Amino acid sequence: MSTDLTTYDGLLAAINDPAGREITDPATGDVIGRTHEGTVADIDAAVSAAVAAQPAWASRPVAERNDLLNKAADAIEASAEALAQLLSREAGKPLNGPNARFEVGACAAWLRANAAFVLEPEVLVDEDGTHAELVYDPVGVVGAVGPWNWPMMITVWQLAPALKMGNAVVVKPSEYTPLSVQGLIAVINQVLPADVLSVVAGDGAVGAALTDHDDVDKIMFTGSTKTGQAIMRSAADNLARLTLELGGNDAGIVLEDADPKAIATDLFWGAFINTGQTCAAMKRLYVPESLYQEVCDALVEVAAQMPMGVGLDENNVLGPLQNKQQYDIVARLVQAAKDGGATVLVGGDPQEGQSGYFYPTTIVADIDNDNPLVVEEQFGPALPIIKYTDLDQAITWANELEVGLGSSVWGSDLDEAKRVAARLEAGSTWINKHGAIDPRVPFGGVKKSGYGLEFGLEGLKQVSVPHVISW
Ligand code: NDP
Repeated sequence: MSTDLTTYDGLLAAINDPAGREITDPATGDVIGRTHEGTVADIDAAVSAAVAAQPAWASRPVAERNDLLNKAADAIEASAEALAQLLSREAGKPLNGPNARFEVGACAAWLRANAAFVLEPEVLVDEDGTHAELVYDPVGVVGAVGPWNWPMMITVWQLAPALKMGNAVVVKPSEYTPLSVQGLIAVINQVLPADVLSVVAGDGAVGAALTDHDDVDKIMFTGSTKTGQAIMRSAADNLARLTLELGGNDAGIVLEDADPKAIATDLFWGAFINTGQTCAAMKRLYVPESLYQEVCDALVEVAAQMPMGVGLDENNVLGPLQNKQQYDIVARLVQAAKDGGATVLVGGDPQEGQSGYFYPTTIVADIDNDNPLVVEEQFGPALPIIKYTDLDQAITWANELEVGLGSSVWGSDLDEAKRVAARLEAGSTWINKHGAIDPRVPFGGVKKSGYGLEFGLEGLKQVSVPHVISW
């Protein structure tokens, strides 16, 4: 059997466990492979190995670790098409559009960006014979627990800064997308020393065994608020440090001076990237009465040009929901919008009996701000557009939920847009774009969207422990 990780068959052969659990393509129901189901004992073994490997990794010059991160990016690029096919099959996301190939490309880009960052010691005091510097030491072992929506990219967000700073990393992927993450890590591990990076697939109990583990010093978690809260409780025993990137319900606010046609495509992808299954996607859109019809029409026009279907079909740019649970959430919330008297401009009518968890691209107008489709996170292809007549009211609505991950403001006058942006309660506010993440720019949430920053130099600091040296 081939073990060439640059081919799809070779990659799958390297991670497939014939005795493991079946994984199916959410677009077709076809079995694509079987995942090993890890146990608590596997977590113990992986953490012990990480503890043993970490000091030698940390003692290498940072330039060597940077070099290996770049080599890992090279390895991902060499296996890019195989990884994208695996991701497309397992997650359902199309190869094209801002989907599987884009995600694999982002993995390489994030590794290279982290390799390039330089975290200098900070001189705190240097006068009158007093000197103090702040340096950043490795934390030790990082436990990385991730979700199913961007399984490869979010795993790299967690492991790239952690490895750079001299930590060892143990990854627990979502049980919905374990093959993608195991494939990614098999590719990266071609260039890393043994046991510095490992993966244990398994269910939430396996995740809890990792996040509860006494020898895990830092937990990077992306997923639901509820699981984040459980992790926070369990981290109390050994005071493990936490970065929690939890769900959101991002608002976008269109201002009176926006040009609906000019912004429509960016509005669409701000909401529907990865078929809406994105933590920092726009999940509710506030539009002034004066532009309401035009914005609705422009969005419907863009939506009509975006084909949805099986991921491996090169034409598609939208796919199915990744799992039944998420499909049911979207269906319930769109039904609630209909029940509340909202107008479904497009979509909203899934076909019974079809294979795959396809929910059509859905845009909903004339919806009340307290409708469940607005106040709950849909995490799927259904965007409510809420009309406003008073900007202060729109800002109040945008801020009144208990989450605050991303947000956006859309308008022609940058100064006015910045003034509105400053009033939004969110970790990130984008102007005339939404969800435009960048490895150099810190990203994180406020309120129940979690805390801690990822990306950039701030991201490096959060997988390190501060150490003050004074003389
Ligand atoms: P979860 O929070 O349930 O799962 C995220 C990860 O945590 C998975 O790897 C999961 O494992 C693991 N996990 C579950 N329980 C524990 C535990 N007690 N201790 C440690 N790890 C645990 O998210 P879901 O994937 O179920 O998604 C549910 C909702 O979360 C979505 O509907 C969406 O609203 C939100 N979400 C937000 C994301 C974001 O990017 N911010 C991403 C994905 C989801 P396992 O899969 O094996 O249960």
